[in-house]
Amino acid sequence: MKYEAVIGLEIHSELKTKTKIFCGCATTFGAEQNTHVCPVCLGLPGVLPTVNKRVVEFAIKAGLATNCTINNYSKFDRKNYYYPDLPKNWQTSQYDLPIAEHGWVDIDIEGEKKRVRLTRIHMEEDAGKLVHSGTNIKDSATSNVDYNRTGVPLIEIVSEPDMHSAEEARAYMEKIKAILEYIDVSNCRMEEGNLRADINVSLRPVGTTELGTRTEMKNINSFKSLEDAINYEIERQTEVLEDGGHVIQETRTWDPDRGITLSMRSKENAHDYRYMPEPDLPPIITTEEEIEAYRKSLPELPDARRARLEKEYGLSEYDAGIITSSRQMAEYFDAVIATGADAKLAANWMMSDLAKNLNAEGIDISKSPVEAERLGQMIQLIMKNTISGKIAKKVFSEMWTNPDAPEKIVKDKGLVQITDTKAIEAIVDKVIEDNPKAVEDYKGGNKKAIGALVGQVMKQSKGKANPQMVNELLAKKLNG
Ligand code: ADP
Ligand code: ZN
Ligand code: MG
Repeated sequence: MKYEAVIGLEIHSELKTKTKIFCGCATTFGAEQNTHVCPVCLGLPGVLPTVNKRVVEFAIKAGLATNCTINNYSKFDRKNYYYPDLPKNWQTSQYDLPIAEHGWVDIDIEGEKKRVRLTRIHMEEDAGKLVHSGTNIKDSATSNVDYNRTGVPLIEIVSEPDMHSAEEARAYMEKIKAILEYIDVSNCRMEEGNLRADINVSLRPVGTTELGTRTEMKNINSFKSLEDAINYEIERQTEVLEDGGHVIQETRTWDPDRGITLSMRSKENAHDYRYMPEPDLPPIITTEEEIEAYRKSLPELPDARRARLEKEYGLSEYDAGIITSSRQMAEYFDAVIATGADAKLAANWMMSDLAKNLNAEGIDISKSPVEAERLGQMIQLIMKNTISGKIAKKVFSEMWTNPDAPEKIVKDKGLVQITDTKAIEAIVDKVIEDNPKAVEDYKGGNKKAIGALVGQVMKQSKGKANPQMVNELLAKKLNG
């Protein structure tokens, strides 16, 4: 039997507020353990929480940016469970009346648009962090708890089970990340755990619609793990079913070192948490006017920006999609063209040499040693015919380690393009004289033979002759 994978994601995103969701403690990452704590986030008796208004604002913005309906009446609930990183023994979250519901985002899969529906977005507090004496909970003699993260605001974005491959799940998560970055509500630093996903995977026979039994992998915090864990789980479940077995509904952990998922515990159900309304917090009332004001305050979002770049600069849909896929990319692009550089050249350079170099060194575009402004200057040298596109590659790789202005690099390295007709003509004449065979072939009707001659001229000029002029001069001489 052929199976289809069904995938739903629960994405947790830490909001970039200065203070925690129910108290005034700072949210800064990396502080000394247990220094950002107070009676409220430590859950001491007799204290009362107050909602950080910014959290509500950010959650509403996230809802609007993902086409959700914002609920005018929303409330907090207690999700009860016992674990040392949760001092109150309940997590203040939202149950039946989340802040936002029924949204969607579009993703691109092999050039085709696909819609992924969002079930809901709700607000909740993060838990603390266990610090083990060993490498994990099993091999540690002792574990301590750091409560700095306790009460850091989160939104949880729950998708419908609308994805069917690791690739789709990745594209969806990338889209959510981009949107959250554009609207500036989260730092989305996955390596710091700002953005993490619980992935739910099940299989069903192709052609059927009923959902199969799912497993859940929690706290996946890189795109690679997301894809690897999904692919592994699809394979594992396929084997179970093909052997005539049943998939067990459970929570599994993804072990990135071994590249496998491991059974952790049987999956809990909602009733296990004994959800109850949070009596210490008033409901969150949001008027239509407030919602409209938030809607108006949203910046241009990735899809709109993409459409604009296509229209305004004639970029292809694909290129515009890559350029707008993250806020940092989009802003870098804007900064490049602000120098006067051609938009298509800017997009090409960003997607080729720049992307290659960044990937090779695993650095983010915001830390690129070739800043947007210098790339813009270099592109202008191409536009002015000071250097050819080919020489520009050399200039670019020099710029990677040399902070000088591209113009200075071109001068210092003697890379200025030869556009002097006389100088090029001299080389052309010599090449014609030295390559009688190619000349004969060309004249005999093999027009392709000119390529070899162009190549010779470029070589002898050390790549500096203007290629267009070389072509023109050669054609003129050979046809004349
Ligand atoms: P929880 O995991 O907290 O119990 P839900 O039952 O609401 O919560 O489901 C959470 C996520 O799992 C959602 O993203 C949903 O789309 C997805 N999901 C639910 N059932 C399945 C299934 N059979 N296969 C794949 N994903 C599923
Ligand atoms: Zn506190
Ligand atoms: Mg879940």
